[in-house]
Amino acid sequence: MGDEYFFPFETVREEQDRMLADVADCLQKRQHMLVHAPTGLGKTISTLGPALKYAVDNGLSIVFVTPRHTQHKIAIDTLRDIKRKFDPGFNAVDFLGKKHMCSVDGVETMHSGIFADFCGKQIEERKCAFYAQTKKSEGVPTVEAEAALAELSSGGPLHSEELIRYGKENGFCSYELAGFLARGKKPTVVIADYFHVMHPSIRERFFKRIDKDLGNTIIVIDEGHNVPDRVRDLMSINLSSFVINSAVKEARQFGYRETENYLSAIKEIIEILANKTVMNIVNDKKNRRFSLEGLVERDRFIELVELKTQCEYSQLIKDLDFIAEEILEERKQSFIASVSRFLDAWKGDDFGFVRIMKVKSRNKDFASSYNGLSSIQENKDVKIE
Ligand code: SF4
Repeated sequence: MGDEYFFPFETVREEQDRMLADVADCLQKRQHMLVHAPTGLGKTISTLGPALKYAVDNGLSIVFVTPRHTQHKIAIDTLRDIKRKFDPGFNAVDFLGKKHMCSVDGVETMHSGIFADFCGKQIEERKCAFYAQTKKSEGVPTVEAEAALAELSSGGPLHSEELIRYGKENGFCSYELAGFLARGKKPTVVIADYFHVMHPSIRERFFKRIDKDLGNTIIVIDEGHNVPDRVRDLMSINLSSFVINSAVKEARQFGYRETENYLSAIKEIIEILANKTVMNIVNDKKNRRFSLEGLVERDRFIELVELKTQCEYSQLIKDLDFIAEEILEERKQSFIASVSRFLDAWKGDDFGFVRIMKVKSRNKDFASSYNGLSSIQENKDVKIE
């Protein structure tokens, strides 16, 4: 039975046996499968084993997504066991978010959006030495990276920590190395986070990076009960009083008087709207706090911003972007860039989204958000573990 499902252990329990057969059957029939099973049953091996067997036999790839860091390790350990016992000829790559794989010191504390701007600029201006040693401008590996990839591919599947350490010690961008490792004709298992698959534009870029086609990929979703909340978070963007106050301060520090006035006006509008529109009391009993929240229409906010700043909304976003770029020349992060991103998102779709202003009771802070309600895309071959 071991070969049939790439089950690497000597004994198989009855429940595992049933699950292995169910997963294999579901793949044969190209169906979705939802598994609800207790901790300790061996869901990871009972899913990855038969999925990998099917992928190897049919020239497919697997993307295993999980919200938990510890689960990356379990998945890679499972793949090592399979490789040791069967060595069926597959690649395995463990991806974290780009920020967590970055070789540059000091990026850990950056907000994700700010890091994305920072990294993009480093690449565009060829300022990142790690990137320069990893990838040529034509998008292919450098000679040094080719040698590193040969060395890394010859070993067992690596945990992301091992790849990150290798990148830092040898002067490479580990995220780019991981992308190259996932390419190629061999069946590949990619361990990744939810956002690599659930966020439409990130998914598109990610599949391009790993050179895989979603239609030829088996998606395994670990801890499926987390999906609705994570997807909603991924599709939402917030602007807090902390961020806008910091943006006002940033504009002042850099001497951008007009931008400071624009940002102060936006802050004032949000405060007014937050206080005027609250309809709902949200009682957080656990933390003994409550907050007030209400809905705001897209056009109402945009009209008020244009009226108060005397600046056309899209032009205002462009101006803020320009100032943020200037600041990013000197600093790794810019709060003005965060405000600009929020204003841009506010213009987005109505369908599936809601715009909320919230006033927190304890310190009178506000938060405004453009929240996704639910937006999960239909994929083929989706399994939820
Ligand atoms: S290219 Fe790589 S190493 Fe350079 S900043 Fe971006 S993630 Fe970090």
